[in-house]
Amino acid sequence: MMEDLRWLGICWSEGPDCGGAYGSYSQSERRARYLEAWRRLRDGGFIYPCHCSRKDLAHSTSAPNDTDDEPLYPGTCRARKDAAEFTEPAGVNWRFRIPEGEQVEFADLNLGQQRYVAGNDFGDFLVWRRDDVPAYQLAVVVDDAAMRITEVVRGADLLKSTARQLLLMRALGHVAPDYFHCELVRDSAGVRLAKRHDALSIRHLRECGMTAEEVLKMAGWP
Ligand SMILES: [Zn+2]
Repeated sequence: MMEDLRWLGICWSEGPDCGGAYGSYSQSERRARYLEAWRRLRDGGFIYPCHCSRKDLAHSTSAPNDTDDEPLYPGTCRARKDAAEFTEPAGVNWRFRIPEGEQVEFADLNLGQQRYVAGNDFGDFLVWRRDDVPAYQLAVVVDDAAMRITEVVRGADLLKSTARQLLLMRALGHVAPDYFHCELVRDSAGVRLAKRHDALSIRHLRECGMTAEEVLKMAGWP
């Protein structure tokens, strides 16, 4: 991705390849920060260990209302009180206990006012995985805060995740950044681009001999 972006003429002032004041920029080197957040969430009673297997969840959950998203967790392990007995997160999944029924609202800088209902639009979500890596939601919240991010620009497929991340930020005492969610790029039939659209990937277009200027023009770059 970095190679392709550079080829397009898009540059950055911080990153895994050029360093910066808020490194490391590789999540694999930021484990201590994620662990500290896990401890704070555990101590604050915001998370609980969950032993449910993927198979358990497949049997009991209501169907997610959109196919991109994780299914609503049915709350099987929610009442567990043994979080304090764990000194390390490894070996079990950890979930965030969402405030059931709370409306999470934010003003997206591109798409306007957004509102999601905890327990309806999303359930108790993963913050740490059984295989001992922080889940996306936790890692991104910890990184945004530590790197003093003020504005997040990303795809509209993450709108609902923003609601989850706002709850996590509040639990950790972080100030939320502003969000600008972009409409997803779609093909001529209106289907969002995915791996099967590889014919339209930057790398492929480049290999076919298109110039960076031609690719930007095709993408509607001003
Ligand atoms: Zn469980």
